[in-house]
Amino acid sequence: MHSGVIAIVGRPNVGKSTIFNRIAGSRVSIVEDFPGVTRDRIYTTGEWTGKKFQLIDTGGIQLADQPYQEEIRAQVQIAMNEDVILFVVNGKMGLTDDDSYIAGILQKQTKPVVLAVNMIDDSTRMMNIYEFYNLGLGDPIAVSGVHGIGIGDVLDECLRLMPEEDKEDKHTGIHIAVIGEPNVGKSSLVNAILKEKRSIVSNVQGTTRDAVDTPFVYEGKPYVIVDTAGIRKRGKVYESVEKYSVLRAMTAIERCDVALFVIDGEAGIREQDKHVAGYACEAGKPIVIVVNKWDAVEKDDKTMNAFIERIRIEFAYLSYAPIVFVSALTHQRVDTIIPVVDQVYENSCRRIATNILNEVITDTQITTPAPARNGKRFRVYYGTQVSTQPPTFVLSCNDPRLMHFTYERFLENSLRQAFDFSGTPIRIVVRKKVSE
Ligand code: GDP
Ligand code: GDP
Repeated sequence: MHSGVIAIVGRPNVGKSTIFNRIAGSRVSIVEDFPGVTRDRIYTTGEWTGKKFQLIDTGGIQLADQPYQEEIRAQVQIAMNEDVILFVVNGKMGLTDDDSYIAGILQKQTKPVVLAVNMIDDSTRMMNIYEFYNLGLGDPIAVSGVHGIGIGDVLDECLRLMPEEDKEDKHTGIHIAVIGEPNVGKSSLVNAILKEKRSIVSNVQGTTRDAVDTPFVYEGKPYVIVDTAGIRKRGKVYESVEKYSVLRAMTAIERCDVALFVIDGEAGIREQDKHVAGYACEAGKPIVIVVNKWDAVEKDDKTMNAFIERIRIEFAYLSYAPIVFVSALTHQRVDTIIPVVDQVYENSCRRIATNILNEVITDTQITTPAPARNGKRFRVYYGTQVSTQPPTFVLSCNDPRLMHFTYERFLENSLRQAFDFSGTPIRIVVRKKVSE
């Protein structure tokens, strides 16, 4: 479930973004719309030989007003937080001092490094790769980002070196990512959740992927909470790098089982709030909406319902997400969060027996058949649930092209009425029935 992260490093103009785009391919996702991050594409998820991974191009993370070497150093440091480092050098130009500088940093750390010598466009340049043995980082792999040569070898090697799931994440339990815009109170909320009646499991050295992951036990059950604001606050290097904190939020979302999406009840809903929530939704993660700073809001008996209404309008695509109102400051209702997390997690793992599912589908179509279009009517013959997290249903039908999205939404709502999927997205895939 928790796919590891490959981070690309290297000095400018060695072909990092070319290789990144090669691997990302033509994958289009909602992530494209993220301001700052994907305009120039530095984050993507992928799958290779059945294994999932995340990929970031640290070359796209620039620091304002920093000397060139400082910038490279910061990028390498960011990469060192991830699972596997893909170090790209330029095989046409040959070895440079900057390459040696980066190699020097990489040698002093423990994360696995894959060395790719780029721009080996044809066999006549094959000789060029040998001098890169001098970097002391093992066997270089010849690639050509432009021609797509050697990319498979690079991915094979990166995934071979990827820590296995159990090694990568020693901490078992439900992973909770706390996401939201700066200053909504994420860190305060994490502290409040960890405060009472919970025992924090001490971090076993070398097992935490990230210093902001905190394992804890609540009523005998293990959890890991990830404060996506933590990195931004941790060091000077990252402070100004808004792009990087958004990136971290994304990798944390990808690794989590449940996302706590925090908004500021006092300041109200802002436009930026929508981006990160959209990503969690796209990633198929269960979401709990946490309205924080409720202590600071002047209220009467209508305030809460009015706020709920606003949320339902502004975040129409999160209509399935439960909403809790809390104060991280006074701890008010903070203890309602974990039980809700448990519930939505359970819902995201729910499996519906095929016969029961088909009763619901049949009943739904009898009561409300799809409207006819050009004399043809969309019809589902049967459905099966093919996976969980999120629950995913494949519906065999007469003709997928006949399904209007409003009818898909209607089917989804019928499933939600029949079964408890609150908090979790569900996916519906329609396929043409294979005739026997
Ligand atoms: P970055 O700064 O490391 O991200 O480098 P880019 O990906 O922007 O590439 C820098 C330049 O090298 C661009 O003009 C690319 O078209 C070119 N380039 C990238 N990969 C290759 C390759 O495999 N062969 C050749 N000949 N040129 C490449
Ligand atoms: P983050 O950037 O999302 O991690 O936000 P912080 O946890 O750093 O909080 C931002 C600011 O909001 C700080 O000044 C907090 O003291 C304040 N804050 C956080 N939670 C609450 C709350 O529940 N009520 C009030 N009144 N202030 C809060």
